[in-house]
Amino acid sequence: MTPTEIADRLEGVRARIRAACLAAGRAPDAVTLVAVSKLQPEDAIRAAYAAGQRAFGENYVQELSAKHSALADLPDLAWHMIGHLQTNKARFVAPVASCVHSIDSVRLVEALDRHATARRAALDALVQVHLGGGEHRGGCAPEALGDVLAALSRATSLRARGLMTVPPPSDDPAEARGVFDTLRALRDAHGGAEALPELSMGMTHDLEVAIACGATLVRVGTAIFGARS
Ligand SMILES: *Cc1c(COP(=O)(O)O)cnc(C)c1O
Repeated sequence: MTPTEIADRLEGVRARIRAACLAAGRAPDAVTLVAVSKLQPEDAIRAAYAAGQRAFGENYVQELSAKHSALADLPDLAWHMIGHLQTNKARFVAPVASCVHSIDSVRLVEALDRHATARRAALDALVQVHLGGGEHRGGCAPEALGDVLAALSRATSLRARGLMTVPPPSDDPAEARGVFDTLRALRDAHGGAEALPELSMGMTHDLEVAIACGATLVRVGTAIFGARS
């Protein structure tokens, strides 16, 4: 993928987001694009950055740390940790991420907060909720959400910002709608948009549905960078 191709594809995704916001009667700046750069080379990230992209999502702790160092020369670049995070890796994430989407346990909240506080770092926190599907893709059960949010409210350096989910794989984007509606209802049951303004949901194949359901952060990889190696 050349830098020009990445810039063109990025513009295509921005157009999809604008159109989906328009269709949903939402302001076009109500949705932030997180460019998912996992397994993509640094040059691809530099190309997207040159085209104005600032938020990037990574799934793997080691890769996140390496890219954070390699791209430290790019001001305002914000790293979002979106992959499953083990408690014993929290120390590596706290100093480099600005937002963690995949918080799913009280222990993880406590570990991240300990390391963020020690590093005087501030972290935006989203709680990932597992909603349906046989395959478990990370996230806490809806019944556990209250406990995780309570732990966040006790944290010093973590700020609860919202909820995140990954629907079970499906060829039909409309099937994701039920999952996205459920996440939004859970948010409304736990303090509403005032307490939890962000809903991180929607990827390459279903971002329009997610935006119709109230997404404020969409996590898009393939549509920007092409297939992952
Ligand atoms: C890989 C990944 C994405 C991006 O998926 P695409 O289909 O490439 O847009 C989004 N969210 C999570 C949690 C991911 O792991």
